[in-house]
Amino acid sequence: MSDQESNLVDPFGRAVTYLRVSVTDRCDFRCTYCMAEDMTFLPRKDLLTLEEIDRLSSAFVARGVRKIRLTGGEPLVRRNIMSLIESLSRHLDNGLDELTLTTNGSQLHRFADQLAEHGVKRINVSLDTLDAAKFGLLTRWGDFHQVMRGIDLAARAGLKIKINAVALRDVNEDEIEDLLRWTHGRGFDLTLIETMPLGEIGTDRTDQYLPLSLVRARLSQHFTLEDIPDRTGGPARYVRVRETGGRLGFITPMTHNFCESCNRVRVTCTGTLYMCLGQEDAADLRHPMRTSESDDPLHAAIDEAISRKPKGHDFVIDRDAAPSLSRFMSSTGG
Ligand code: SAM
Ligand code: SF4
Repeated sequence: MSDQESNLVDPFGRAVTYLRVSVTDRCDFRCTYCMAEDMTFLPRKDLLTLEEIDRLSSAFVARGVRKIRLTGGEPLVRRNIMSLIESLSRHLDNGLDELTLTTNGSQLHRFADQLAEHGVKRINVSLDTLDAAKFGLLTRWGDFHQVMRGIDLAARAGLKIKINAVALRDVNEDEIEDLLRWTHGRGFDLTLIETMPLGEIGTDRTDQYLPLSLVRARLSQHFTLEDIPDRTGGPARYVRVRETGGRLGFITPMTHNFCESCNRVRVTCTGTLYMCLGQEDAADLRHPMRTSESDDPLHAAIDEAISRKPKGHDFVIDRDAAPSLSRFMSSTGG
């Protein structure tokens, strides 16, 4: 491929440098805001094989992607996931700056050391509460103590940890300060996330929605939040908390103000490329991979898709409306 082709730039001049890959739609938890308890998963034959995920990810690296995040479902429950991570790590320092993942932490006690050995430097762990009983209710199937053990082992393995917590009205809104003190006390970053209207979960999302503007105003009564210019090309905005010295992020996907710097695309575990988390438009990358040994049709499909990357999203949370998007966060990986 020539140098000229080696960048993916969309019609709005945004270079795509960040790929998020959902490696499975399955999960060992059933978080109430993410899935219904009787969630139906995809037939296994529809999933990309690990080799196909490697091929697809490598095609993006060849085109200028510098960061890959594996997600899901729960990425660490995909069988042989470490072989994919080991294989993708060949791109580190060779086009790829960062290989990372977002996990619920349930399998970290098994994999923390191997992740570090394969060049993973940082991970995001989703944890919405420090209360074991509440954790059980929120995740339905999760074991709080196992996750805490996994986090300890990941920290001991030298992985930098960012805790992601979804802010939920009446559920953890009284705990945000504790989460802040706990994460920063351990040297972890904390990022708070607003709920997004993805997938039919069997309950009314307006009951869970807690605007982060309110959370921020409450935190400001006890902490000094200093804006810092750190940007990831996504919907996160960061502050330094003067009293703890730690970094706190706010992910407010319902606002539009981050779209102009968007640098990312997402691939589902079936090889569907979503150019925007908040839009239905997508491109199938599995077919061009399965029908040709050459990567040319795959690159052509990627180019065609990037030429359609939309300017922004159309999220709304409305009591009477169906979810803005029918697909689940667990299929695009968040
Ligand atoms: N299972 C892994 C985990 O929980 O970290 C990775 C996949 S999960 C879908 C990725 C992130 O999306 C998690 O931090 C989760 O809390 C968040 N999430 C799931 N559903 C959401 C929703 N409807 N709105 C906002 N965040 C959501
Ligand atoms: Fe599983 Fe993550 Fe969704 Fe929870 S948020 S059900 S851990 S995919």
